[in-house]
Amino acid sequence: MQSYDEALAQILASATVPLATELVPLEQARGRAVASDILATCDLPPFDNSMVDGYAVRTASVGSASEELGLSLPITMEIPAGSWPTRALRAGEAARIFTGAPIPEGCDAVVMVEDTEEAEEDDENEPGRVTLRHPGSGSYIRRRGSDIAVGGLAIPAGTSLRAGEIGLLAALGIAEIPCPRRPRVGILSTGDELISLAHTALQPGQIRDSNGPALAAAIEEAGGVVVGRAHAKDTPEAVAEAFAKLSGCDLIIASGGVSVGDHDHVKAVLEAQGTLSFWRIAIKPGKPLAFGTLGDALFFGLPGNPVSSLVTFELFVRPLLRKLAGHTRCLRSQITITLATPLSHAPGRREFVRASLDDNLQATPTGAQGSHRTSSMVGADVLIIAHEHHGDYPEGTILPALVLR
Ligand code: AMP
Ligand code: MG
Repeated sequence: MQSYDEALAQILASATVPLATELVPLEQARGRAVASDILATCDLPPFDNSMVDGYAVRTASVGSASEELGLSLPITMEIPAGSWPTRALRAGEAARIFTGAPIPEGCDAVVMVEDTEEAEEDDENEPGRVTLRHPGSGSYIRRRGSDIAVGGLAIPAGTSLRAGEIGLLAALGIAEIPCPRRPRVGILSTGDELISLAHTALQPGQIRDSNGPALAAAIEEAGGVVVGRAHAKDTPEAVAEAFAKLSGCDLIIASGGVSVGDHDHVKAVLEAQGTLSFWRIAIKPGKPLAFGTLGDALFFGLPGNPVSSLVTFELFVRPLLRKLAGHTRCLRSQITITLATPLSHAPGRREFVRASLDDNLQATPTGAQGSHRTSSMVGADVLIIAHEHHGDYPEGTILPALVLR
């Protein structure tokens, strides 16, 4: 039997470079990876500006008053955000300035409004006056380029774009982002017993194809795009026909028919038409896994049991999809959780136990863990990793877990 780590390493090694790059409008780029380093196209901030609402001054003209409130100065300009000062600030003047407004030439400090006292206006022809605390040079000024300087590395290649990265790109005025294109994925559900959602009633012996919709959702969440769906009955001809229907994909994901039963044809047809690596991986759920190539596509044959197919998708397919899409981080984060209840686990295989997680990182398994138990996926926040050489775990045990979100 193959170990989890060996299988994952071999799968990831099959994607040597990300898919071809395309330009993506910024507002559609959330969740995509950047294909190359993005350099700052301008300084941020683009000009020196005030950090606060207050008064712009020249510290030399305020003197070295040591008392709380120092000199009284005439207010000779008003500089709101979005304006540009029409002249330099002279010694002995104060300019009313607002957060984000440009610092006038000659100004070397801003005194925040809370540290000032504006005098009552007694003559409307005279400028108003303000009494202010002595500022330190440079106070409350955000310098041009202090966030990021033009030419600096804004976002390294392979970064996944989230709200923060989108905000930085918008601030830089970068409206289109080079991203590896989304992997095009085909889904094949195999089994004589399966009927699609479109059928209203089940005939005796039939079940609904739940892997198809579940895998489609998992593919979309992982950043892939589902471009084809097929169902094949349990004959080599039907499987071959479905393979043909899904040609043109970057990745084909089949579920079911991958074991060694008389009605399992996926491996044989893949072997005849493409290349096959077949593994029995020492994990639970999801022991059998076929991986290979079919034409230009990479190919996964996942086990048919709904839990096994989704868990093996998480463990092996999602990382590959992320790598194809150019993400540096392809794996789910691993954290440590505390078992809120005892966990039974038979030694022998590494087990991935579906569990919900509370705010204190206490994990509770989502009920019985049989690989046919579709309901055990409901509310699963993590996969707790139970060690292959360990038996049952008591409540309170600290264990590693993969975060499913
Ligand atoms: P198999 O791997 O084809 O032997 O299937 C294992 C189990 O998973 C059987 O109980 C199948 O009925 C079930 N199964 C296979 N494919 C699907 C599917 N697409 N949706 C729901 N259950 C499935
Ligand atoms: Mg089957």
